[in-house]
Amino acid sequence: MSNIDFLKVLGLEDLNQGVSTGNDWMMTSDEIESMSPVDGRRIGTVRVAGLDDYERVIKTAEKAFLEWRQVPAPKRGDIIRQMADAFRKYKQELGTLISYEMGKSLQEGLGEVQEVIDVCDFASGLSRQIYGLTMHSERPDHRMYEQYHPLGIVGVITAFNFPAAVWSWNTMLALVCGDVAVWKPSHKVLMTATACQKIAAHVLKENNIPEGVCSLVCGANDIGEIMAKDKRIPLISATGSTAMGRKVAVAVGERLGKTLLELGGNNAIIITENADLNIALHASVFGAIGTAGQRCTTTRRLIIHSSIFEDFKIKLINAYKQVKIGDPLLEGVHMGPLIDQAAVQNYLHALEECKVQGAQFIVEGGVLEGVGYESGCYVKPCIIEVQPDFAIVQKETFAPLLYVMQYDTLAEAIAIQNGVSQGLSSGLISLNIRETEFFLSHAGSDCGIANVNIGTSGAEIGGAFGGEKDSGGGRESGSDSWKVYMRRQTNTINYGTGLPLAQGIKFDF
Ligand code: NAD
Repeated sequence: MSNIDFLKVLGLEDLNQGVSTGNDWMMTSDEIESMSPVDGRRIGTVRVAGLDDYERVIKTAEKAFLEWRQVPAPKRGDIIRQMADAFRKYKQELGTLISYEMGKSLQEGLGEVQEVIDVCDFASGLSRQIYGLTMHSERPDHRMYEQYHPLGIVGVITAFNFPAAVWSWNTMLALVCGDVAVWKPSHKVLMTATACQKIAAHVLKENNIPEGVCSLVCGANDIGEIMAKDKRIPLISATGSTAMGRKVAVAVGERLGKTLLELGGNNAIIITENADLNIALHASVFGAIGTAGQRCTTTRRLIIHSSIFEDFKIKLINAYKQVKIGDPLLEGVHMGPLIDQAAVQNYLHALEECKVQGAQFIVEGGVLEGVGYESGCYVKPCIIEVQPDFAIVQKETFAPLLYVMQYDTLAEAIAIQNGVSQGLSSGLISLNIRETEFFLSHAGSDCGIANVNIGTSGAEIGGAFGGEKDSGGGRESGSDSWKVYMRRQTNTINYGTGLPLAQGIKFDF
């Protein structure tokens, strides 16, 4: 399929409006170009929000909330079910756009759209399961229970690397909960955001849903900053770097709003002497080079038992020789480009730092040049032997750099794994139940995600997704993450004839 075909099917033009309250697209003045890291070409241009446009979006969303919260939850769920069908219809084209605009392999692009569909299905079912608890009151003839009400506007700020999935994780849940959503996507992937909004808006229009239930405000970081300070947005769900999360936490915290933060990771796999090395190899390579090392759950560190360290290094070197780097839209390509030149500079800077700190390159890095690599965004994945306490190893470099290090006891391996400021995803490869259970115990991994005989990347939507420490502490997607999008209310009802007061207090009147 040519570029023109998939853009046309998605309703995208050369110049697109990027601010929408649903089906209504606003005429705004500023523009951002979307460049493909795959071939360096301009995909299109998206018009972005100024302050006035933002105001209109928020005012419309405020109004829409008053109507949307009246719609019964299962009816809201039915609309999300229709969204799932709409995304099924456009899976191929949207997956292709994601791959072309972000640079991940087509398989991963399609997989990302599947995540959108899956979370819509999940949210649709959830719409009949927004349960509260009941409890026995200590007072006679009293009944107590808890119920959940929608919050209002949910501000969704997303990163470039999952340009569709993270929006859907938040928006679909928010919508079934009775909230309305305002999305500020990364300015690096605005064509994907515009396409997602068009697909969703069509479903909303067909169901006569008021403008403002599901809005898009394309823009740069400044729009995110305005949202974080905006008291009319009770919950900001922000996905991105830890540096961004710290700023958002302060701005939202200052106005006592709620945050759901999904931030950077520094994920490790521990490979014990009891590991199935075939599983270990597949988990490590997929985790390190998938999405060119630009997943929050990318495997950045391998902590390998000293008895198998040298042998496993050889396996890794051989596996890396098989990695095909190139146009991610082509079949058989494992790794596409980094998102842009700035990402390439970060990668090169990290390689320099590794050298300065005395790390040893097992597989050399570098920028690829020549036919097929004209965008200048293709880099070699590399493997670097380090000491766990090297400064560079503490940082998340959003690129395919894999640090390897060795350990002697499992307690030592877990201390290394937990000894960084981030706490998103972790994995242990072992066939020994004592090792696996220790890793999963309270003394084991301190991450939000702890896997056994699976790597660090690729989470299913059914579980709550998120990390601890500098990874933000938020939980989104499956399980009971929906509770974050609602306010909880405790209700006590007296159906008796008297009014027993707390702590036995009595009045004489
Ligand atoms: P980024 O922090 O540069 O930007 C993320 C989003 O935040 C963008 O929409 C950006 O415009 C906005 N933003 C930036 N500064 C802001 C501010 N001060 N106030 C409000 N909004 C602001 O991140 P990125 O480069 O797009 O994405 C890569 C990072 O995202 C990595 O650190 C990665 O680990 C992280 N990430 C985390 C998860 C997760 O679920 N934990 C998922 C995907 C990506």
